[in-house]
Amino acid sequence: MSDKFIINGTEIKSGENKIVNFNVARLPSNTLIDLPVHIYRAKKKGPKLLISAGMHGDELNGLEIIRRLIVENRIKPTRGTIVAVPIINIYGFLLNSRYLPDGKDLNRSFPGIKSGSLAARIAHTVMKNILPIVDFGVDFHTGGANKNYPQIRCDINDEKNLELAKAFNAPFIINSNLRDGSFRKEAQKKGKRIIVYEGGESLNFDEFSIREGIKGTIRLMNHLGMTRRSVRKSKNIVISSSSWSRAPKSGLFRSYVSYGDNISMHQKIGSVSDPFGNEENKIKSKTDGYIIGLRSNPIVNRGDALFNIGLI
Ligand SMILES: [Zn+2]
Repeated sequence: MSDKFIINGTEIKSGENKIVNFNVARLPSNTLIDLPVHIYRAKKKGPKLLISAGMHGDELNGLEIIRRLIVENRIKPTRGTIVAVPIINIYGFLLNSRYLPDGKDLNRSFPGIKSGSLAARIAHTVMKNILPIVDFGVDFHTGGANKNYPQIRCDINDEKNLELAKAFNAPFIINSNLRDGSFRKEAQKKGKRIIVYEGGESLNFDEFSIREGIKGTIRLMNHLGMTRRSVRKSKNIVISSSSWSRAPKSGLFRSYVSYGDNISMHQKIGSVSDPFGNEENKIKSKTDGYIIGLRSNPIVNRGDALFNIGLI
């Protein structure tokens, strides 16, 4: 097999690092929008690992994880190739939005189509040009209005997925079915395993989630034989399913637990009160489990998701 590594017409020789730009679209102002892809090739052959972030433009921790791996010089492999895409959804990033200007969620637009709307075109670019040159990947996400405790989401019944998730060693591994239109599902159809990392919340940097993401990437690279650096493994809990505990009333929410906490059935985990202190509704957990996601904004409407509880 040829050892040539060519992306968008640019050859990256072994031992080289290059940034390759894909012209994905133009703004209405005629400004060209590039999708920058950073390639780091070791001299020695080995696996090709994708690390991507910013699929949802308002989810910033993954971007910071990749930036620090680059500036701290920890991204260069000793074997194989790292393909790093720090911001897949450039439009969403510019607009501080999860979505694209066509109103679409990029992670529900895969595999995309060349002549489709903006989301479909970007998804098509990723499927046609980036997925074929990698073997595995980690796609970095954050929670939205809810803050997620650092976790890997994957189909735990798939042996390779579970192996990659265990090697990454985030505090939790959450069993997560493949969703239609997601990058993860379309990649898996092509025989490529992409695991999803979730940590923190949108439009914020969460230092703990950033550090866990960096450590996990180095552990995964070490597991794949791509670096000699190592990071000690810590406790890792596999969650088979999860359920939301929702606001019983509209009002002001306060949590009695922290995210990551182990809770038990009937434990008082929070309350929702009216703003004047007349009425307070306690929230009890209906199950034993772990707080894997927690709402940050205290202003809630009845039925809003407050606690994501992971079940073992
Ligand atoms: Zn996301």
